[in-house]
Amino acid sequence: MNRLAGHVVVGHIAKRPVDPYEGISATPAELDVRYVARTLGVPLRAVRGAMPRPGSTRQWCPHLRFCPRCMSRGYHSVVHQFGYEPQCPLHGYGLDTARRGCGATSKYRIDARLLDAPFRCAQCRRSYAHSSTSFLHRRPLPKRGKRASDAIRRMFYG
Ligand SMILES: [Zn+2]
Ligand SMILES: [Zn+2]
Repeated sequence: MNRLAGHVVVGHIAKRPVDPYEGISATPAELDVRYVARTLGVPLRAVRGAMPRPGSTRQWCPHLRFCPRCMSRGYHSVVHQFGYEPQCPLHGYGLDTARRGCGATSKYRIDARLLDAPFRCAQCRRSYAHSSTSFLHRRPLPKRGKRASDAIRRMFYG
């Protein structure tokens, strides 16, 4: 795959020099929000809205919380990190914090290991998805998934 190495990406998106293998939290305190918005071509408020903010009452799970079905689509939403949400809004499937098989959890942080093995467990390097992750052969979302996807888009893009 033609892409930058994870440690290089962490160096670009971190506000200050950091150990790329320690990584950064996905917060405005540690992430260069303006750089990320400009690089991805998305509104600044969409990036800010996708991370915990000081004073917010929203609970965030400190560990990666994922839907295996979304992972098989090459997708993870910050909505999965909301502590009060027991199920994936797209699939209605229970969210996991531990990968089945190895039982490992991962902190919800951006680091070189995560970026070098997207959608895979940092411990065993196996996929978080039940099947392999594919961007090309995605199953169509169920009806509820399409509605939820539109609601998530509105939440961040207005
Ligand atoms: Zn899902
Ligand atoms: Zn694992």
